[in-house]
Amino acid sequence: MGPLAPVGNLGKIALSHPESAMAQAYDPNNIFAKILRGEAPCVKVFEDETALAFMDIMPRGEGHVVVVPKIAARNILDIGPGDLARFMPAVQKVAMAAKQGLNAEGVKIEQYNESASGQTVFHLHFHILPRWTGVELRPPGGPIVAAEALRPVAEKIRAAIGA
Ligand code: 5GP
Repeated sequence: MGPLAPVGNLGKIALSHPESAMAQAYDPNNIFAKILRGEAPCVKVFEDETALAFMDIMPRGEGHVVVVPKIAARNILDIGPGDLARFMPAVQKVAMAAKQGLNAEGVKIEQYNESASGQTVFHLHFHILPRWTGVELRPPGGPIVAAEALRPVAEKIRAAIGA
């Protein structure tokens, strides 16, 4: 298993896991690849050498964050176990910070693989969804929320990561 691909190589490698010959091709022009390359904006929550976390533009609830690996993987069916293992601590870190920073009672983590499961952006990502008793999540594909409204929420989560 090789090292995680630098963000700049996202457009050049087809699969992170060459053995996964059955996986569908990775499209380097997906929106999360563009965000990783700095070609599209995001409201950033966290970044390290393996991962970038940012606010979901159509949040299903308060504090909805997506965490993406800095590697060209279409979904969890298309990443080597070593790369996945190096990335997952970032998912845990953001989940813990979202719960703490927003005083949530719980946190739900969702992850979809291929269209039939609900995947719409074909770069591996984990949804971090803070939860409160009696507060329902909105369905996917809801209204776009402006960056100005997302930034204060991101700041609370960032502060918890720094704590
Ligand atoms: P999926 O259904 O593939 O698991 O989720 C994709 C997520 O990406 C959705 O929750 C959707 O709201 C979010 N999304 C789509 N386009 C953008 C974008 O341009 N920026 C951000 N921050 N999120 C996006």
